[in-house]
Amino acid sequence: MKDYLVRIVTKTENIRALACVTTGLVHEACRRHGTYPAASAALGRALTGGSLLGALMKTGQRVGLRFEGSGPLRKIVVEADSNGAVRGYVGVPDVHMVTAEGKLDVGGALGRAGFLTVSKDLGLKEPYKGMVQLYTSEIAEDIAYYLTESEQIPSAVGLGVFVEPDNSVSASGGFLIQSLPPADERVIDMLMERIGRMLPVTQFLHEGGTPETLLESLFADIPFVALEKRELAFLCTCTREKIEQVLISLCSRELSDIIGREGKTEVTCEFCREVYPFSREDLERLLGEMDSMQ
Ligand SMILES: [Zn+2]
Repeated sequence: MKDYLVRIVTKTENIRALACVTTGLVHEACRRHGTYPAASAALGRALTGGSLLGALMKTGQRVGLRFEGSGPLRKIVVEADSNGAVRGYVGVPDVHMVTAEGKLDVGGALGRAGFLTVSKDLGLKEPYKGMVQLYTSEIAEDIAYYLTESEQIPSAVGLGVFVEPDNSVSASGGFLIQSLPPADERVIDMLMERIGRMLPVTQFLHEGGTPETLLESLFADIPFVALEKRELAFLCTCTREKIEQVLISLCSRELSDIIGREGKTEVTCEFCREVYPFSREDLERLLGEMDSMQ
């Protein structure tokens, strides 16, 4: 099954909902970053949450999520755009922690104290930024808390990532439900009760469930309209040209030092771990460009 997302709205337009499957893109991200299981679950949940928020952006806009916590993972950074492209990384990938019940301990890995910052590039000069304290550090509740508190849109979020003993990701997905004004309290209560009773997202996917059937089961007897279905993918925006710009932004002394010390260098993209090698000739050319700019 390819990664994709579906979006619906109730006929009364009081509630919108999105659901997605992200198994492939989360597996790809974890492979690239060499994450250990708890880090894989944390990164996967954040990538899935980012995919859901990205789908609410307009064409050309981007959303960034930055979780910073007191735990060994230190941080999770995710970016998503309106076209279904998502990328991300964790501060320390080789973190593995389990709870007393034997579950992957995402909250402990990220740490209970910290902040979630959401930035939105709306094409204006400065990106929009909102920040909340971490709520449970389990990712889904933190995103719901941010949306409800900071954006004033009452939201429910469910995210799940299943990491196999061999460290592969066999199921990943999630959903986001938002109440739009005027709030329909009766339907909200019904949905909250159904969310409380539903299977965990990963178990739902393991048993053959899809984003469509997930929403159909939650919205049974609630008339809704399917709005769209879009593909999702792990996709980075890095290019050799952008990395060159980073090198050029160093001062020329630093660049001369690299040339003098090692002759060549490698720059690794922190979002996707792609390695860009720069030979002595490359670096001397960049140094020449810097000198001609000054
Ligand atoms: Zn990259």
